[in-house]
Amino acid sequence: MKSLAIVMRQNGGPEVLKLEEIEVAAPGEGEVQIRHVAMGVNYIDTYIRSGLYPVPGGFPYIAGKEGAGTVIAVGRGVSEFREGDRVAYPSGDGGYCEVRNIPARALVKVPDTIALDVAGSMMLKGMTAEYLLRRTFKVGPETVLLFHAAAGGVGLIAGQWAKALGATVIGTAGSEEKIALAKAHGYDHVINYRSDDFVARVKEITGGKGVDVVYDSVGKDTFPHSLDCLKPRGMWVSFGQSSGPLPPFNLALLMQKGSLFATRPTLFSYIATRAELDESANSLFKVVQSGEVVINVNQRYRLADAAQAHADLENRKTSGTTILIP
Ligand code: NDP
Repeated sequence: MKSLAIVMRQNGGPEVLKLEEIEVAAPGEGEVQIRHVAMGVNYIDTYIRSGLYPVPGGFPYIAGKEGAGTVIAVGRGVSEFREGDRVAYPSGDGGYCEVRNIPARALVKVPDTIALDVAGSMMLKGMTAEYLLRRTFKVGPETVLLFHAAAGGVGLIAGQWAKALGATVIGTAGSEEKIALAKAHGYDHVINYRSDDFVARVKEITGGKGVDVVYDSVGKDTFPHSLDCLKPRGMWVSFGQSSGPLPPFNLALLMQKGSLFATRPTLFSYIATRAELDESANSLFKVVQSGEVVINVNQRYRLADAAQAHADLENRKTSGTTILIP
């Protein structure tokens, strides 16, 4: 079967994302063939495109890790999915395309009450919010936390989820518009980190105490200042580098800043087993179905415009989640 896909043949800027027609084989053993309704765009896609992260499996590479659609065929040995099922995945390279094959073990079924375009935008970002708030650090009513890039894809989901867990939620964002958006999605306080000193503001908000945990996906620009926002023995969760990678640093810094804990997690090690994948996806579906977390699909692009989607994400022009539509 023919499918349009965004194929990368080299690393570089958004212009290396090229629309091509590809041939999709019948699904192999253990695989499911799906027709996409929406494919999520994630910051990690830009790291792979630019060369910051290695290209999984080498070139040619079809970009994209997240998507949702309908099953159109199943390969031998697949019993848990059948034609017509509504499915989604948070982690499957080769996402930016109309039709694809994917191992059944990467897929989950989407409840009828969740639209597939919403599912296609939220699996990677929402399951990231899930493990960060529930497993990397157990957020609860006593927790005071700082979440950078609060109006972003992960940020808007995390703010609402953290609020639902009862936490005091402080965020940062890069414009007044984004600040208003974050405040409407769970954040009690939002700091403009482009114009204000966020360390001083966090101290002010917490009465000098600092926060229990900082979730930092900005990387270079917020390091090492994020560490100065923490209470003694607080936890620094460095989970991304939208502004560029962190410099190497001496571990003794954690001692100097107050016996801090540090972790550098990735979703992929939190959903490594089928049970973890299902548990994380079901937790996400539950908070979305209950209305505790509303997914803001704020940017929609045609598949052919994937390069524009990357440029807008990297130029801080987006908020909430971003999808490509086949
Ligand atoms: P976002 O929608 O959050 O986009 C990134 C945001 O980062 C921008 O909108 C911008 O918000 C902020 N930012 C700050 N400095 C810069 C800069 N110099 N250049 C560009 N953006 C900047 O993206 P995602 O929701 O897809 O991902 C958020 C982060 O989480 C990424 O760093 C990603 O790699 C990471 N991530 C990590 C995962 C993990 O398991 N480790 C899984 C999923 C995502 P503003 O304008 O408000 O500053």
